[in-house]
Amino acid sequence: MLQTKRIENYLKDILSFIGEDPNREGLQETPNRIIKSWNELFSGYKQDPKELLTTFDTEGYDQMIVLRSIEFFSMCEHHVLPFSGHACVAYIPKDRVIGVSKLARLVDIYAKRLQIQERMGEQITNALMEYLDPKGAACIIEAQHLCMRMRGCSKQESVMVTSSLKGAFKEDLNTRTELMRLMRSSRNEGLL
Ligand code: ZN
Repeated sequence: MLQTKRIENYLKDILSFIGEDPNREGLQETPNRIIKSWNELFSGYKQDPKELLTTFDTEGYDQMIVLRSIEFFSMCEHHVLPFSGHACVAYIPKDRVIGVSKLARLVDIYAKRLQIQERMGEQITNALMEYLDPKGAACIIEAQHLCMRMRGCSKQESVMVTSSLKGAFKEDLNTRTELMRLMRSSRNEGLL
């Protein structure tokens, strides 16, 4: 509680710094609201991917599993401005599988932190390789960065695409081609 008060005071200083009057009516609750929104925006720090990734027997299934169009919102660590887009996460099971919703939640665990897009994809595939031990893992991310759209070079439509490929996805061209085909098979509006 004491610490929250201290951070609220820092935020009041920041509001003054940008030219505002932190005591005017509309801004009185703003420091407190910012702190509350951080609880959600940065909730990924409090979550452990190991606890999320409970696994099941494959029951003989040994083909690629792809979850496409996973919407996410993150904050860039350089400017603390949002970037958002879609991730596509895939793996090829060896002995174990996970519930499909866990792939989406894994994206959120890493999105809800200060991030750079490249590292976010790597953290997702590293977690899959470590806790699921699949034959391969992949994460392709398409995102738009507000730090580019609102400021700096102001490129409104640019989309950054990153890929993190591990195991069979990295080593085997056919596997990689299959992933690209599945990613696009019913793709209709340019979303991964
Ligand atoms: Zn940025």
